[in-house]
Amino acid sequence: MDKIPIPFYEVTPLDNIAPGIKGIRVLFVNVFAVSVPSGGWTLIDTGLHLAAGKIKHWAESQFGQSTKPNAIILTHGHFDHVGAVKDLIDTWNVPVYAHRDEFPYLTGHAKYPPPDPSVGGGLMAVMSPLYPRTSADLQGKVQALPEDGSVPTLPGWIYIHTPGHAPGHVSLFRTEDKVLLPGDAFCTTKQESFLAVAKQRPELHGPPAYYTPDWKAAGESVQALARLCPYTVAPGHGLPMSGPEVADQLQRLAMEFEHFAVPDHGKYVHRQAPTA
Ligand SMILES: [Zn+2]
Ligand SMILES: [Zn+2]
Repeated sequence: MDKIPIPFYEVTPLDNIAPGIKGIRVLFVNVFAVSVPSGGWTLIDTGLHLAAGKIKHWAESQFGQSTKPNAIILTHGHFDHVGAVKDLIDTWNVPVYAHRDEFPYLTGHAKYPPPDPSVGGGLMAVMSPLYPRTSADLQGKVQALPEDGSVPTLPGWIYIHTPGHAPGHVSLFRTEDKVLLPGDAFCTTKQESFLAVAKQRPELHGPPAYYTPDWKAAGESVQALARLCPYTVAPGHGLPMSGPEVADQLQRLAMEFEHFAVPDHGKYVHRQAPTA
């Protein structure tokens, strides 16, 4: 199948996030490669459908021609995180893991609730009704993350179930140096705004608002992540941030989640979305 080429300036390397962690942004979505001291690497999320070729190229440039990851871990099943997953597993034939609560979406049994353009905030929100509500159908190809919080292929990492933005959303955390990959549990860009997404000046924001159906759970998830006191955060949208101030800023986002993250209006703001 022909694909629309992505211009080179829309592909941005996110190098040296922390030891053994690098990423790449294709259009407005980040994916990450996490290496482990025992050898090999694991891909976190897979970006948009059009990103498959860019991700493969990038992986080869980083890890060598015949490289493939030990596994792919999905933070959740939204289209902008699973777009290239089928293409990549066709090429690499590696296991894919996600939280069990995300399985209805990842196996073609459920659609996400409709995106909510009425949250406001900019072009990305206005356009959100056009975004697919279905995920990749990975029936028979996705495995559940273990119940004990460990992350297959990533010793030293744990996952935290962080629902709200999606029911089976997970965030990944390396305990030794407090690196947090929060997926879409929060962003470092105002994801609703096309201009902010294009400029990518890092600042903490809640999850992408048009695509968050359960704000109460989303707030509790950010609180859980703030309790980890991360030193480095590298989300699915926006630039990575690192430093002693990150934990304080995340704490502030958690404490004042209603103010900083929950939109003033929106159809999911004061009630939960019906299950699709
Ligand atoms: Zn998402
Ligand atoms: Zn996303």
